[in-house]
Amino acid sequence: MTTEKLYEKDGTLYDFDATVLACAKTENGYAVTLDRTAFFPGGGGQACDVGRLGGVPVTGASLSEGDVLHHTAAPLAVGATVRGEVDRSVRFPRMQCHTAEHIVSGLVHARYGFDNVGFHLGDREVTMDFNGELTEEQLDGIEEQANEVVFRDVPVTVSFPTPAELPTLSYRSKLDLTENVRLVSVEGVDVCACCAPHVAKTGEIGLVRLLGFIRYKGGVRVRLVAGIRALTDYRARCRAAREVSELLSVPQEKIVDGVTGALAASDALAQSNAAFRRRLSELIAGDLTPTDGNRAYFLFDTDADPDVARRVVNLALPATGGIVAVCYGKDPTRYILASSSVDLRAALPGINAALGGRGGGKPGMAEGTFSSDRDAIERFFRETDLR
Ligand SMILES: [Zn+2]
Repeated sequence: MTTEKLYEKDGTLYDFDATVLACAKTENGYAVTLDRTAFFPGGGGQACDVGRLGGVPVTGASLSEGDVLHHTAAPLAVGATVRGEVDRSVRFPRMQCHTAEHIVSGLVHARYGFDNVGFHLGDREVTMDFNGELTEEQLDGIEEQANEVVFRDVPVTVSFPTPAELPTLSYRSKLDLTENVRLVSVEGVDVCACCAPHVAKTGEIGLVRLLGFIRYKGGVRVRLVAGIRALTDYRARCRAAREVSELLSVPQEKIVDGVTGALAASDALAQSNAAFRRRLSELIAGDLTPTDGNRAYFLFDTDADPDVARRVVNLALPATGGIVAVCYGKDPTRYILASSSVDLRAALPGINAALGGRGGGKPGMAEGTFSSDRDAIERFFRETDLR
């Protein structure tokens, strides 16, 4: 038995009647073979269809020795006539993108002589690789031409040339195959060997948008969206532009100026902030007084951050010669200890044990956290001789 493949001749056929020829139990359900089907089993870069068969969900389809296997959750009676329904909401956006890809590839080939050497039809966008470099201006031109092909609403047709005819024909994706070659033609624009279903007329594609490109393996990788996916993409970009415009309180057509201005203001703020922090660190370090008995220079400042704390430690250390302990933050309290006279790696286990601390470091510098409360930490550094 060989399934009659309705999708090969008509990509716009979604509903059909067929007879169940076989139904085999598989690992995850059942594999149903029909005498005819509109379910595309996947190929040519386009994923397989899903839908329903006799009311039972079809989760996928695949090709096996010329037959299309329909993967279903429940068995179907052999000999029964069933209604097949291909899920158009899944198939149609794929066809819009796929036919758009043929048009763009055909135009690039005709105008610049480059081949499409890689094609991926993803859930959101298409990528295609050309074996030659194209500029943004050239791709803008291709995009305009592609949309012109859509506006002209030209037919997309399928043909099965005989082995004798093949050598006389000019088409893309020419392989060594001589049998069962299926050609998809976009009238006046492109002829390409392809096994997937396509739209019947280019007007069905809707907008063709080239989102961008990168240099790739000596050529370019181009990103494309078309049809419903172009609408989804456009809607998301409009929403983003509107939100940015509202956040910056600038008109949408001025958002680039708005973001440029906001970034410049943020840079200036960062610079003045850095200057303030340097000055703040100097002031704190200058004010640092030795704890009782000159055991350690100690500072507790819950508002300080790691940057200020580190600066204070580095500024204070040469003046003290002893230990500088800076505690900052809360829950947990963070610490930085530094010393030029005491081996902190040796002293740290005792300090951590006394104050519920965790952390480590080098002989001259250690960092970590204390779980003891502020009073206990202060008392410890006031009363403990760490030298
Ligand atoms: Zn194709």
